[in-house]
Amino acid sequence: MDSAEVLKEIAEQVTVCEKCNLHFSRKKAVPGEGPSSVELMFIGEGPGFYENELGRPFVGQAGKFLDELLARAGVSREKVFITNVVKCRPPGNHDPEPEELSACRGYLERQIEALNPRVIVTLGRFSMAHFLPYAKISSAHGKATWVNGRLVVAMYHPAAALHQPSLQETVLEDFSHLPEFIKLAQKTQAGHVISASAAVDPAESTTQPAPAQPHTEQHSLLDILPDQAVEPPAPPADDPDDSGPVQLSLF
Ligand code: SF4
Repeated sequence: MDSAEVLKEIAEQVTVCEKCNLHFSRKKAVPGEGPSSVELMFIGEGPGFYENELGRPFVGQAGKFLDELLARAGVSREKVFITNVVKCRPPGNHDPEPEELSACRGYLERQIEALNPRVIVTLGRFSMAHFLPYAKISSAHGKATWVNGRLVVAMYHPAAALHQPSLQETVLEDFSHLPEFIKLAQKTQAGHVISASAAVDPAESTTQPAPAQPHTEQHSLLDILPDQAVEPPAPPADDPDDSGPVQLSLF
């Protein structure tokens, strides 16, 4: 089965999925959309009002802002895959519950495996936590970390900036570095690796020659490097993105 067929199969399964309680209240599940082969994948938190109506990701105000951010970064939305960690809208726009995240995790992991992106941009703390469960978005945003051979770039959710205008400059600044992260990932493909032992700041990043014996040990997507485990998993109470899947609550 090729990647397009796998993604189609996942979308069909998501559409009728009843693995968690979110299926009771959803109107349309939102599997995600984009080409079947991408270099860049975006992962948000959960569908909002318009997403639930249309069955498409990021079509509300947060989606419009994401489109603007992508345009500023010179990235075409048509060339990226966009999805969420939970594919159905939580009622009342609540934060995804652990059991909902857990029930939906397999779909996301299969999408990542099928797409095989070099760069994954997480939008908001729940998608970041999928890869970096101990990170705080207030310190991890705008940085990239190698996770299981992919460059994971943590960003605030676009709707966080709509909630808090003071965050807009930060979000714009973080997205402005996206082309640099893509280039860094491409350099890695060309035979260079970036230190996998620490988060990468685009302004400080350096490349190193690839090791003679490439590291081939397989890790799960949740594996992180020990020195990244610096914070407990609970998000800070004063985190600007603490309102959870803010894409949900606004629109
Ligand atoms: S959120 Fe995910 S696990 Fe829950 S019903 Fe929807 S597709 Fe299934």
